[in-house]
Order: sequence, then structure tokens, then C-alpha cells
Amino acid sequence: MAEADVITKNRKFKELGFYDNQENNVYFLLPMRFARLNQEKEVLVNEVGDHLVVREGTFQKIVQRELNKEDDPDLFGDLVANHFISESRIPPLIDVLATRYRTKKAFLNNFTMLHIFVMSLRCEHTCHYCQVSRVTQDKDKFDMSRDHIDKGIDMMLQSPSPHVTMEFQGGEALLAFDNIKYAVERVHLLAGLRNKSVTFVICTNLALVNEEILLYCKEHEILISSSLDGPAFIHNSNRTRPGRNSYELAIKGIELSKRILGPSRVSALMTTTNLSLDYPIEIVEEYYKQGFRNMFLRPISPYGFAVRNERKNKYETDRFLEFYKKALGRILEYNLAGEFFTEDYATIILRKMLTPFPVGYVDLNSPTGCITNVIAFNYDGSIFASDESRMLAEMKDFTFQLGHLDTHSYEEVFYSKRALEIVSTGINESLPGCSDCAFQPYCGADPIQNHATQGDMYGYRPTSSFCQKNMEIIRYLIELMDKDKAIAKIFESWVKSRS
Ligand code: SF4
Repeated sequence: MAEADVITKNRKFKELGFYDNQENNVYFLLPMRFARLNQEKEVLVNEVGDHLVVREGTFQKIVQRELNKEDDPDLFGDLVANHFISESRIPPLIDVLATRYRTKKAFLNNFTMLHIFVMSLRCEHTCHYCQVSRVTQDKDKFDMSRDHIDKGIDMMLQSPSPHVTMEFQGGEALLAFDNIKYAVERVHLLAGLRNKSVTFVICTNLALVNEEILLYCKEHEILISSSLDGPAFIHNSNRTRPGRNSYELAIKGIELSKRILGPSRVSALMTTTNLSLDYPIEIVEEYYKQGFRNMFLRPISPYGFAVRNERKNKYETDRFLEFYKKALGRILEYNLAGEFFTEDYATIILRKMLTPFPVGYVDLNSPTGCITNVIAFNYDGSIFASDESRMLAEMKDFTFQLGHLDTHSYEEVFYSKRALEIVSTGINESLPGCSDCAFQPYCGADPIQNHATQGDMYGYRPTSSFCQKNMEIIRYLIELMDKDKAIAKIFESWVKSRS
């Protein structure tokens, strides 16, 4: 490039008086960011996540002090009331704003709540996207020992949180049901002594579930989290097992679980594979048919065996977004016809947008939810920053291993240099690209996904699938609410149902 072609942009700060606002003493700016929604509209977002959809060009007018109270009293009033600008140097309600900021971050108050116990790596399924599947009878090698269960419970009960969740995972956790019973009974003995309440969850494909297991779950108030990828032709293709009857067993198991435990104690998760991408409507309708009135539209996690099977699983984020919008559209149709049916990912984001409450969803937290919200004890006693980190370890990447139950104390795990490094790279307020992104209060940071897909924990937003997905879903939700008041009302009802 010739030297003359190089355009140097001058972005020097203006004189102090410009910011001091002495000359035109009209209004003061408060911290805010903006993003273009479409050709006509842009959205302003303040530090606590309040948003205002305005005409394109408004942000520029605001910062250039071209906004006039007399010319546009409604807009001016909205901007003052929602803490985008202030008529005095220190806004009279600054303490309220500070309290609201603290409230939004209150998910940090109690530190780690979710404790994942990988009870067994064994599984009778061989799902092609599974990170950890092991078809083996070798209990000794691939089941968590009782010694490690004891040590994991001891570490869990040291959490500062008065309420913790113990989630049993696999492989297929029900292959180690005797050990689950042992763990539940040990927690019952010890939790009261440490003033803890404990929620139990078993994650299972339900192939092995029976009445006896479910009656035990009912007695001990254990929740069931299962998997349903869609109609039989999708589910059975994604989730392979001898007999090719994963779908039939899952449906039978869901029905039995709902009958014995009650519908609200049974949930299902779907994973979007390449095959799923062509069937958004069919997948939503399958959930509806099975009596679910919520679902979570999840892309595949870029870990473990999932990324080894590229042909089936490595699709572009654009294709997932197209799938997501079609599926969300079908869910909204049910709502517009008078049904109450929610999409969980949208609901989490909407709760961040439309309520003052904290949202402790691991993947959309800043600071990152790994370690601060979740910890995983692997079947062999190794301790990881999250479930995804132990999946990375299955690929021989031990970057997020924090220690081992045999050798490390609570302090050595949670206050280690490694833990500090992981959490400090997971703060989107200070990450390049995120720090000036309008959607920052609704989004999160995921150092583990950054590391797995981009080679370092900080990540690079322009090519990040995590960023692309969140940015477009957040933009789309705001646009939908702005365009259609009926949809805005539906979204409000989703948020209220979780409040
Ligand atoms: S990841 Fe992307 S969408 Fe999320 S805050 Fe960062 S830049 Fe914004």
C-alpha cells in the first residue's frame, strides 16, 4: 500500500471542558454502550443492563450533546429515568444504580453451588457426539470409588453456599446407582451438621430406569435430567445403543418418571447435531407432544468426541442460528395460540434484560461460572473447573484440572494460581471486544470454550462462535420485542414464571 493511501484517524480526546459540560450545561453522560439492531433502529444499554430501543443515529446525537429536552421531551425523559444521562454531575439516584449493579452480581455471593460427581464413565450408549462414552464392564477402572465420593462430599460441604446442588453424571450415572444411593445417604448424614441444604439431580439417558430407582428418587427428592433430541429418527440416529431403541426407552422412562415423581421434577435436554438442523419444527413439536412446556435449544459442545466426528457435528454457527430462530418461532406460535411454552436459553437472557435479579447460569456469567458456580469431580478423583473441562481432559488436555481429591485441600483447589488465572480471564467487562460490546450485561465469558476452539483462554471475538451465537440471539430477542408487542408480552411472561 502506498504511503499516501494510509488514512490516519485522529481520535484525540477533546478538551476537558467538553466533558465537563460547562459550556452547554445540558446533561451529563452515564456509562452506556450501543449496538445497531437493523437499518432503522439501535439499542442503548446501560451498566446494569437496562435497554432502550431508539432511532438510528440517536447515540451519536446523545454523545455530541445534540439532544434537546424541549425538542424531544419523551426521549430525554426516558434517558434520564433509565440512567443513560443525568441532569446533574452526580445523578441523584446513583446509590440506587450501585445497589442494582451489586444485585446483578449477587450470584457471586455464595460462591460454588453446583457440584458435579461423575459417578461412572461407563455407558451402554455410544452417542456419536458424546464426549465421554465408554462401553465397558470394568467398574473398578471407570466408576468413582467410595473413598473419592466421601472426599468429594467433604469438599462440597465446605462451600460457603448454604445451598448446594449435587449432580450425578456419567457416562450413564444409573450404572452406578448403588454408589448414588451411598452418596445420597452420606450427604443426609453430614449436610445438617454443616447447615447445608442439598438438591440432588441425576443426569441419565433413562434406558436403565425402573420403578424401584424412581421410588428411591421420590423418597429422597432427587430430580431427573434426561435427554431428548427430537423425534425417533433424530434421537435414535444421534444416540446409538444396541437395539437402536434409545428413543423408545427415553420416552418410556420420561413417562414413568413423570408419573412417579411429578412432571415438574423431570426435565429433558436436546443437543443439536447436523441432522437436527433440518428439523427445528419437528423437534419442537416432539417436545410439545411429550408434554414438555419448556425446552433448551442447545448447540453441540465443542469438546471431546463431539469435535472428532466433524462431518456430523461441525456446522457453522450461522446454521445453528437459522435453526434456533425457526424453532423459537414455532415455540412462539404455541404461545400466540394460548399455550405457555418457553425456550430456556432465551428466558435466561431475557431475565438478564428485563429484571433486576442476578442470573446464575454458568455459561452466561461474568465472572465466568466455572469454579465460581460449578466444579466437577471426575470418576478417578481428579477435580476440574467445569464439566466441559473434564471433557477436554478426555482429549488429553488437562489445562483446567485444579487438583485431585486425594492430594488437594479445598483452599488448594479454589484459591490456586490456576483457578485465579481461569476466573480472571473470564470477565467480559475487561475482555477485548466484550468490554465495549452493548450486549455485555446479557452475555458471559467462557475461557474453556475459548481455549478449546481458539487456543487461548482470552479468545478472539471476531471469529468466536460463542460470541457470534450470543450476539445474534440477543440482538434478535430485542428486535422481536420491539417489532411485536404480543411477543414482548410473551417474553415477559416467560421471565415472570422463573422469578
Ligand atoms: S462474547 Fe460477543 S456478544 Fe458477548 S459480550 Fe463479548 S463481544 Fe459481546
